[in-house]
Amino acid sequence: MSSINLDIDRRHIWHPYTSITQPGPVFPVRSAKGVYLTLDDGRQLIDGMSSWWCMLHGYNHPVLNQAIVDQTHNMAHVMFGGLTHEPAINLAETLIRITPAPLQHVFFVDSGSVSVEVAIKMALQFWQAQGKPQKNRLLSLHKGYHGDTFAAMSVCDPTTGMHHLFADNVTQQIFSESPRCKYSDPWDEDYLSDIQQKIAQHKDQLAAVILEPIVQATGGMNFYSPEYLRRVRELCDANDLLLITDEIATNFGRTGELFGCHHAGISPDIMCLGKALTGGYMTLAATLCTERVGEVVCSGEAGVLMHGPTFMANPLACAVANASIDLLLNSPWQARIQKIEKQLRQQLEECRDWPQVNDVRVLGAIGVIELKQPVDMKTIQPRFVEQGVWIRPFGKLVYVMPPFIIEPEQLQQLINGMKTVVASL
Ligand SMILES: *Cc1c(COP(=O)(O)O)cnc(C)c1O
Repeated sequence: MSSINLDIDRRHIWHPYTSITQPGPVFPVRSAKGVYLTLDDGRQLIDGMSSWWCMLHGYNHPVLNQAIVDQTHNMAHVMFGGLTHEPAINLAETLIRITPAPLQHVFFVDSGSVSVEVAIKMALQFWQAQGKPQKNRLLSLHKGYHGDTFAAMSVCDPTTGMHHLFADNVTQQIFSESPRCKYSDPWDEDYLSDIQQKIAQHKDQLAAVILEPIVQATGGMNFYSPEYLRRVRELCDANDLLLITDEIATNFGRTGELFGCHHAGISPDIMCLGKALTGGYMTLAATLCTERVGEVVCSGEAGVLMHGPTFMANPLACAVANASIDLLLNSPWQARIQKIEKQLRQQLEECRDWPQVNDVRVLGAIGVIELKQPVDMKTIQPRFVEQGVWIRPFGKLVYVMPPFIIEPEQLQQLINGMKTVVASL
């Protein structure tokens, strides 16, 4: 039987955004394979979260397992200051090849939040180097989410982004409204007026605009029009601002295109990658920038980009990222995601008319039911488990982002579990 001591977990371990004195329920996982999590008591759950959107190819994939084992036999880690290695070189080459062409330089970091910190640092150093240190603010969007470290927090939605909690320590940034034009909405110039106005008013103090392309994920699962993104790119060019796109949630196919930017055919000056980069195996993220940003940053007083994490470009993480990207690009990923999208649309549509439901939306391999009331996590979570699915809502949003390898019957089961629980609310 189980040797897991949940009492130690409950008494001593912080889980994400939880109380140490009143912890919520946690379910011990013994193992995972494909789309299934196996709990310690033997129950199997279909994972609708891809472990926070990372596990593209499912769990325990033989190719990814092998990549880690092989790399372990060469070296698990080596410092990146003054040394380099093939997994990092191969990964940089791939990322430069598959992201928009102007992106030419890669900075490897250990988490998404840190990649956003580095992106912001690049933008600040870019203007410092040109004798404009007063251009040191970011313009961000309501409903944005960019991570939990301090600079990243400063560009998260000002209401849900913990700003009042850390008021004295979070840099005051400029915010524009969340994009109002839904993904397929016809374009109206009025959609641009708020950000136009904010840029006109603050451009002398702005270093960059930062946003999540096409999908504002954690801040509200808002899918917005590619035209908005194209127009913001134009505004940045016209007003001498850098554009930072945070692709951490959208990267590697989740929205139906390889990157969110591809929906709009634009290229940012700085791009953040993370989450699915290693297919969910290891923590790794990257900040990419254009040749111009790289050159200007390094022409400044410091002469270098002032960052260097201990575990930068960890070889195990780079090796598994290389294997994961190969696996993705050599799979019929677009057809798979279109199939998932179609099934999500068909099977979620009926929920639109339910009294407790505010909206249903689907894009790529993301299916969202927005409720009228926020869920009570402590009571709803066990109900999903009873249905044999792993779904972890936030606020009013009950959503799934399954691994791309999910079979139609498995997806059907996942959606049924989601609907059964929503129907019972
Ligand atoms: C998850 C996420 C982050 C933060 O990444 P971590 O690896 O959790 O630090 C940043 N930006 C976006 C868009 C994200 O979805």
